[in-house]
Amino acid sequence: MSTPLPALIIGAGIAGLPLALQLAKAGKPSIVIERCPGLETKGQNIDLRGPGQEVVARLGLEAAIRAKTTTEKGMSVEDENRKSWAFFGVSEQKEGKKNTSPTSDIEILRGDLADVFYQECLAKYPNLISFRFGAKIASIEENDDSVTLTLKSGEVLHGSILVGADGQGSQVRQMCLASSSNINVRHFHLYMSYYTIPREEHDTDIWRIYITTKRRSLFIRPDGSGKTVRVSLCVMTQDPEAVKAFEEQRDPKVYKEKLKEIFTGAGWEAPRLLKAMDETSDFYLHPTVQIRMDKWHKGRVVLLGDAAWAPSPLGGMGTTLAVSGAYLLAWHLNRKDVGDDPTKAFTRWEEEYRGYVEKAQDIPSFAPGLFYPRNVLEVKALRWFAYMIGVVSKLPFLGSFFGGGEDPFKLPADEEMA
Ligand SMILES: Cc1cc2nc3c(=O)[nH]c(=O)nc-3n(C[C@H](O)[C@H](O)[C@H](O)COP(=O)(O)OP(=O)(O)OC[C@H]3O[C@@H](n4cnc5c(N)ncnc54)[C@H](O)[C@@H]3O)c2cc1C
Repeated sequence: MSTPLPALIIGAGIAGLPLALQLAKAGKPSIVIERCPGLETKGQNIDLRGPGQEVVARLGLEAAIRAKTTTEKGMSVEDENRKSWAFFGVSEQKEGKKNTSPTSDIEILRGDLADVFYQECLAKYPNLISFRFGAKIASIEENDDSVTLTLKSGEVLHGSILVGADGQGSQVRQMCLASSSNINVRHFHLYMSYYTIPREEHDTDIWRIYITTKRRSLFIRPDGSGKTVRVSLCVMTQDPEAVKAFEEQRDPKVYKEKLKEIFTGAGWEAPRLLKAMDETSDFYLHPTVQIRMDKWHKGRVVLLGDAAWAPSPLGGMGTTLAVSGAYLLAWHLNRKDVGDDPTKAFTRWEEEYRGYVEKAQDIPSFAPGLFYPRNVLEVKALRWFAYMIGVVSKLPFLGSFFGGGEDPFKLPADEEMA
């Protein structure tokens, strides 16, 4: 019997790694190709909800993941004097229910979640999952019964399928699906920067948010280390100078100068955060966009996670969609009746999953603007609104109204695979 061709998975990220694990569970090999020289451990706090939590439990990784959470106890909306106007505690995941509080019971650093998946690949499936780090794609060629991937190093890999799990800026999307799917990039005109700074005595295990005028907000979040905290400066702007600095220059120095200009005088902890920005080693900034496509697959090539549907960080669903989408894709690929025709699996998977993704992407265009007020009046109105929601959501008879109801997506059982 000939050895089956591996799945070629581009991107050792939050979507690519659980896909490799779930395929390996069914005895299927994969090669994971990552452009970074090692596992990309950058990234700040991400949360895992509903079906995403169910997937890690089924992979036997729940304890390892819970051991690495950021210990965040909730989210507080503060004013310039650090007075809290609203507090939202941790919302615990209840089976089959949506978890809609800003702080989920699994808050983890992106790098830690990726590392748990990666270590599991190494420990449990050394013969089924292999890695190519620091690898750059030169070309992708589809044949009737396989896909050929050539790397810039000259290495040529043959796979049964190729999965683009290469994030929001996906190269696979551009190379393989640009001609067959309408790709719509929805821009929120929101720029979010992230970095790590030393923890100070008054920092707590609460995610603290300060929202101020001129569409600016500042976040400080715990990371569980006890030594550092994670910071975010966010601004919604269409000012041509700012857009040029954030979109065209691709230079952290330029980003930082622009952020200093925008956030100087913002109040709250802005002086501390701006000063620390110069000393941090992990600064990055990205425009907040959403990717929408008519179709996520073509022939033997399929997109997964942010590459296919980046929902934006605004809904807090990017990680959950990536992890449960990976599981469901593997579930369909592992079905016996798929045989040699992966497009059957891709089609069934997309039919089943698209509705859930589109629901998560359904952010009304006015909504982000509500959280980025322009002037003092709007800031005050937002604080009172947050205060009321904070109070009402704690009332027992109304609390469940904010609990989110049924989660619209249910994972199929492993045993149902036939
Ligand atoms: C550095 C980084 C930091 C992030 N920080 C946050 C954050 O703070 N908060 C948040 O909510 N979300 C963050 N995200 C996004 C979050 O991880 C995703 O929204 C989500 O988890 C979906 O995962 P994904 O696997 O689809 O994409 P990602 O987690 O982005 O993984 C994509 C992987 O593909 C690799 N890759 C990209 N292009 C290529 C290529 N051409 N060839 C090979 N490999 C490639 C990347 O290096 C990365 O390892 C971050 C992503 C990255 C890459």
